[in-house]
Amino acid sequence: MAPRIVTLPGDGIGPEIMAAATRVLDAVGEFSYDEQLMGGVSIETNGTALTDDVLAACKGADAVLLAAVGGPKWDTTDPSKPRPEQGLLGLRKGLGLFANLRPVRPSPALIDASPLKPDRIAGTDLLVVRELTGGIYFGESGRDGDTAHDDCAYSVFEIERIARVGFQSARTKVTSVDKANVLETSRLWREVVTRVHAEEFPDVTLEHLLVDNTAMQLVSQPSSFDVIVTENLFGDILSDEAAMLTGSLGMLPSASVGGGGPGLFEPVHGSAPDIAGTGRANPLAMFLSAALMLRHGFDSEEAAAAVESAVDQALEGGIRTADLGGSHTTEEATVAVLSHL
Ligand code: NAD
Repeated sequence: MAPRIVTLPGDGIGPEIMAAATRVLDAVGEFSYDEQLMGGVSIETNGTALTDDVLAACKGADAVLLAAVGGPKWDTTDPSKPRPEQGLLGLRKGLGLFANLRPVRPSPALIDASPLKPDRIAGTDLLVVRELTGGIYFGESGRDGDTAHDDCAYSVFEIERIARVGFQSARTKVTSVDKANVLETSRLWREVVTRVHAEEFPDVTLEHLLVDNTAMQLVSQPSSFDVIVTENLFGDILSDEAAMLTGSLGMLPSASVGGGGPGLFEPVHGSAPDIAGTGRANPLAMFLSAALMLRHGFDSEEAAAAVESAVDQALEGGIRTADLGGSHTTEEATVAVLSHL
């Protein structure tokens, strides 16, 4: 049976890049698509960003492919009004996704777009694995007079399961990032990661690195990393730092996995309302998100690598959408990628 993918085109450039992505997927395999409303477009129709029916459809799928949600029409600071990103949060929570994966692999043809010197960035091919549902963002917080606090807590269970995602994703090495010289949660983190490594993944190399040192090494020698696994707050910051190594928002895919059911695959960029409907959106991050879905959702390494290689070849052939300093359209970029599949 063809894997069933719930597609969520969402808002802005979302529908344009989703339509292009299903053409690319159809070139490497057979899939059945179930398109659903999520985000602003669902607020318009249903009054809420994510309905129970759509969440149920996602839970029953083999994978969920999302383009982007949001736009000025739904920007509001009124807490009683529905907002598109509530759909994203509801989806992550409903699917129990606790691990966020962000690969950073600058395409050889775009090395010059990186803010780093070409000799520094060359050979970079890393994956940031960030814990998504624990730590300081989910701890107790409050105010007492002129003092505020945000508590950070991690359990052995939470660390074990994210450590496993890190080791399973590694080709050679896992760099576990913490602040064990200062934080107790980091000392527990280091203890648990060390044990999971010894008991379950002795063939993968493990190194521990302090978060401040990691921030420096990411810009001084990014090619020395394979998988970086870290807690929520450190991962939030380091994944954005790592993303900048490519120098281009329109090229970055991400995946959220771990709930035991379908994963969620989406580009890092937003719905780009400023260029929606002009045919100028860069579809490549969407294609690379589909490749991540093939790799991490369907275990189809061959098909994933084919899509990534086709994207590289299209760029080497000179394809550049406006965000990459060129004038090619979404359609031209899509046709160029398809020609290499
Ligand atoms: P954005 O990523 O949508 O756009 C930032 C800039 O990058 C814009 O100039 C845009 O034109 C450009 N850009 C982004 N993706 C591009 C692509 N694929 N091709 C060409 N150019 C591209 O971020 P923003 O402007 O801060 O947010 C716009 C809307 O998107 C907001 O409503 C925001 O809430 C939402 N948003 C959604 C997600 C998501 O769905 N995961 C993520 C971030 C922002």
